[in-house]
Amino acid sequence: MLDLTGKNALVTGIANNRSIAWGIAQQLHQAGANIGVTYLPDPKGRFEKKVRELVEEPLKPSIFVPCDVQNEEQIQETFKTVAQEWGKLDILIHCLAFADKEGLSGDFSAITSEAFTKALEISTFSLGRLAREAKPLFNPGGSIVTLTYIGGVKVIPNYNLMGIAKAGLEMTVRYLAAELGAADVRVNAISAGPIRTLASSAVGGILDMIHHVENVAPLKRTVTQLEVGNTAAFLCSDLSSGITGQVIYVDAGYNIMGM
Ligand code: NDP
Repeated sequence: MLDLTGKNALVTGIANNRSIAWGIAQQLHQAGANIGVTYLPDPKGRFEKKVRELVEEPLKPSIFVPCDVQNEEQIQETFKTVAQEWGKLDILIHCLAFADKEGLSGDFSAITSEAFTKALEISTFSLGRLAREAKPLFNPGGSIVTLTYIGGVKVIPNYNLMGIAKAGLEMTVRYLAAELGAADVRVNAISAGPIRTLASSAVGGILDMIHHVENVAPLKRTVTQLEVGNTAAFLCSDLSSGITGQVIYVDAGYNIMGM
């Protein structure tokens, strides 16, 4: 049985009720995990209020802290809070990404150095950075799950810069899995089908991508946040104890199709 009772799960990347991280957090909570939530702070505190209102009642998070992955101090404070409140960590969900709009449409060769650096720092480097802080806190049997997309292995129109970020992210998963395996901590990625969210709406033609998947995928549809959440819960549970360093597709089978 899928049981996460007593496990401490830190979830990043909840922006609103369309976020994939929201689907994951709900499924982890339903399986019995204690939930901690990080949010991206903004100067007016609007994001904090929005995320708090969403998660407070249903998830009753025992940790709720700001964590901009470009902010060293906030990263360290986040894990200091985890150490103080929980002592140990079992689950880390890395469910965030960012690229400037100019990197998500038009000519790939037009991507600037600034846009490249920012996208890779937030979307790729951050996985290893959070893992570094989490490493000493993990209980044996721990699990890290991140989110990727098929645009990291195949050319998807407009995905451009994020394709590079996801390719790097998938390789990061393998290197981290090799490093953390000795401590019995597993690291995996879920490659999700296209879902309408704040982040995906920045990718040029996201609706066309979804319609294409609905036509081509074996299941003739795309997937939901909760379906991704179910697979994340599996990857965080003992049911998947032999799986690490993998990219698991939750995409209604789209990735197997040639035409
Ligand atoms: P959301 O916009 O809901 O989530 C993206 C999250 O990243 C937001 O919470 C955002 O915060 C956060 N974020 C951006 N910059 C930073 C930063 N510097 N520090 C901390 N957090 C930051 O979109 P999704 O749920 O779609 O995205 C979640 C993950 O799923 C991403 O990795 C995405 O690439 C991946 N994915 C999405 C697919 C889709 O079709 N939607 C398909 C496959 C993978 P805020 O909104 O407050 O700025």
